[in-house]
Amino acid sequence: MNQPSGPIRTPRRRFLQSAGLTALTGALASRSAWLPTARAQTAPGPVVVASGNGLQAAAKAMELLQQGRDALDAVIAGVNLVEDDPKDNSVGYGGLPNEEGVVELDASVMHGPTGRGGAVAALRNVRYASRVARLVMERTDHVLLVGEGALKFAKAHGFREEELLTDAARETWLRWKETLSNQDDWLPPHTIDTLDVGQNVKQALRHYGTINCNALDQQGGLSGCTTTSGLAFKIPGRVGDSPILGAGLWVDNGVGAAGSTGRGEANLLACSSVMIVEWMRSGQSPEDACLSACKRIAQQTKMKRLLDEQGRPKFNVSFYALNRRGQFGGASLWRGMRFAVNTGEQASRLVDAAYLY
Ligand code: ASP
Repeated sequence: MNQPSGPIRTPRRRFLQSAGLTALTGALASRSAWLPTARAQTAPGPVVVASGNGLQAAAKAMELLQQGRDALDAVIAGVNLVEDDPKDNSVGYGGLPNEEGVVELDASVMHGPTGRGGAVAALRNVRYASRVARLVMERTDHVLLVGEGALKFAKAHGFREEELLTDAARETWLRWKETLSNQDDWLPPHTIDTLDVGQNVKQALRHYGTINCNALDQQGGLSGCTTTSGLAFKIPGRVGDSPILGAGLWVDNGVGAAGSTGRGEANLLACSSVMIVEWMRSGQSPEDACLSACKRIAQQTKMKRLLDEQGRPKFNVSFYALNRRGQFGGASLWRGMRFAVNTGEQASRLVDAAYLY
């Protein structure tokens, strides 16, 4: 497991010894640990951290940060590149559709300096879900708009409807539909011990994918964005973790930012991003806080159909975190994930994430 490097190197600690939930209990017990910490005298930014598909996004975000722009402008400009990319079939235009062949997007944004957030879920026909999420934050008194309401809101702000399903994504969906079995997302009655329902759908065709991008700007402002077409071939209306603030994204300007990719259902039941930020507040490094989130998901997954013979989750979830001092880290349940980092001195690079298994 490689040690992520940042402007300030994260001290290496064995995860098995990390405090995990104990640290949170300690933080709860100590009221001062929950108070916003003083802002650094000298802002250590800019830094950008993104999921592994975010190399170009991180570079674009850094370009804006180096011009002195706000971190939210930077991360949205970065993820727009991926929302535009027909070859990334997990985000925006070219994203894989739901089980009826319709692309439905989820996105969230958070702006640390003003403590605001916005999100859209199950948004159809508008590729820039991240920009619509920002408008929900800036031009409504709400935080989350879904489905038809989100589309109407986007159109009111001048977004044009377009077909987001590319031929490549449609053909992948068609292959999936043609090979459907009785092992899809529609589960028959089952118990905690049932093994042969769900999750056995052809996994090669059935995948997750998302971009999360977090940044620290030159003014010490932290912001983040998570945008996705979500789980491929989902039940229409399914909402993952990406647009749920606290689960797929959380930013606290006094502490740090965190976001996720991977099996949203597991993360929705753990609200990991807010937990990661709180673990960082209580003193954990970004990497250790991400590992704590992985451990908590492993502990909370009890349904046998989701576990392998050794009791480990069969799915993956990955986390990315950045603190206000510019330290960063990432972790996944399963080995092999990498995340993108740009600290401004060189091109974006991929860093190995820490892992549980
Ligand atoms: N977390 C996203 C979701 O569950 C998908 C992903 O990141 O792969 O919708």
